[in-house]
Amino acid sequence: MNFHVMTLFPEMIEQGMNTSITGRAIAKGLLSLETINIRDYSVTGNGRIDDYPYGGGAGMVMQAEPIYRAYEDLRSRITDDPTKDTEHLRVIYLTPQGRVFHQEMAQEMAREEHLIFLCGHYEGVDERVIEAIVTDQVSIGDYVLTGGELPAMVMMDAISRMVPGVLSNAESGQSESFSDHLLEYPQYSRPEIWRGQSVPSVLLSGHHGNVDRWRREQSLLRTQQNRPELLNNADLSKGDLAFLESIKQKNPEKVQ
Ligand code: SAM
Repeated sequence: MNFHVMTLFPEMIEQGMNTSITGRAIAKGLLSLETINIRDYSVTGNGRIDDYPYGGGAGMVMQAEPIYRAYEDLRSRITDDPTKDTEHLRVIYLTPQGRVFHQEMAQEMAREEHLIFLCGHYEGVDERVIEAIVTDQVSIGDYVLTGGELPAMVMMDAISRMVPGVLSNAESGQSESFSDHLLEYPQYSRPEIWRGQSVPSVLLSGHHGNVDRWRREQSLLRTQQNRPELLNNADLSKGDLAFLESIKQKNPEKVQ
């Protein structure tokens, strides 16, 4: 997986991504990260890349040409490798107006060999360059941030976890929240009793069948309480449905 990020703040991306799990994966060569400073492609030569919006209004807009030049330069470098299929490069513009990012999108994007991210700033980006180069517009949630750098890092982090070898235990990416439209069960670690609170006894029983059943029920319970809409897409067995019905009977006011 090769990430390429077009940004005005490359150091922000590099510091964030070269840390912890993604940093280790970059060092091992499982991921690569390239940042492209859009300012280097300024047409005025003095690093200016924004201008006033036509029609008036507050703020500044990132101009089309520096972004387009940065993209063309990047694209020619990527496509210089004749062994790679680079015809359908994905260019993701981070924007609050895009489709909201979710785990399945991360899984789907993790199959690409290259992903190019365009981070906006100020009031955003001239619409014409979005039309010219962008294949996907993605939001990380219904709120407005100052720039696309954090959203790009959020996406790259989630996508990296799907790249084989990035997580030390391949299993740990599979049973997590959202992997099957359920939230994960609660987790506990040592000590067995912490400030008077014990770990649920089933987890100490050594009985794998009971542990699995308890975890499944806790997942169902959590999802029902916190994100009931996810259950509409979950693959539920007859036993799961009976369990959900039983918690509704026991606790109707807590269950939506
Ligand atoms: N004027 C824009 C609007 O109303 O849609 C918002 C611009 S925002 C202040 C500046 C940049 O931050 C955007 O171009 C985008 O790259 C990024 N951004 C802000 N919120 C975001 C979100 N929720 N998801 C993804 N990117 C976001």
